[in-house]
Amino acid sequence: MVTPLGKELGRSLEQLGSSLSLFGDRHARMIPNDCLFVAFFSSEAESLPRIANMKASPKKAVRKKLSRTDPAEARFPEIWRRLYREYPDAKCALNFSNAHEMLFATILSAQCTDVMVNRVTADLFRKYRTLDDYAKADPLEFEKDIKPTGFFRQKTKSIQSTARQLIDEFGGRVPDKMEDLVRLRGVARKTANIVLGNAYDKIEGIAVDTHVKRLSKRLGFTDHDDPVKVERDLMELVPKKKWLQMTYLLIEHGRAVCKAPVPRCEECVINHLCPSSRV
Ligand code: SF4
Repeated sequence: MVTPLGKELGRSLEQLGSSLSLFGDRHARMIPNDCLFVAFFSSEAESLPRIANMKASPKKAVRKKLSRTDPAEARFPEIWRRLYREYPDAKCALNFSNAHEMLFATILSAQCTDVMVNRVTADLFRKYRTLDDYAKADPLEFEKDIKPTGFFRQKTKSIQSTARQLIDEFGGRVPDKMEDLVRLRGVARKTANIVLGNAYDKIEGIAVDTHVKRLSKRLGFTDHDDPVKVERDLMELVPKKKWLQMTYLLIEHGRAVCKAPVPRCEECVINHLCPSSRV
């Protein structure tokens, strides 16, 4: 409630303001808005000493609007936020119950959908339980078992020789170190990163598959095509605790919207931050 003294004070401040404005804007700005507010809406007894001590509020920092021409470091946090909101459950879609199943499912997923791999491994993992089962399987029968995943001859060779190598060189266990995993036949950094992250909760890098590579380039996170160089650029840009999730966010967005060869930029939640946007 405004008391008579408050009204009086308000009038006085108004007059003071108009007098100062006669000397130009520079002097008028000497009466901060906060002083007028306090004078009108507080009790006079409290207001007067506070008015005397009051300083002008600092100007609020104006946040610059991000644009697609900003550097990747500036755009990344907002791109992450929007993709995470769009795909909160993005994660590895392959089914597995131990490290060697994770490894073999990843090998089978090359040039194949996760849905098809899961369909095949539902029977495969029941039929072949141990590394010995894989190593000693009849190659022709194994090829038939995994045929729907494509490239079945090459994948059979990879899985059987990997199983033998795991038995002979790693005591029948899938190693949990990058340098050991990439010694296995058919295992490069992409597969190793997926196995480490999903089977062992260990993050040593970012798995770069075809979606991650394509999106990283379109988003201007890298200029490279070589997956190892793309991974290096992403590791510099993305905080380590986000490395595993980053792979799956880009994969989900690549499958749903940023498709090859023609992206659906008009539906894309990050099109205003993407240097390759067509809209
Ligand atoms: S704007 Fe287009 S090219 Fe860029 S991320 Fe989105 S869909 Fe891909």
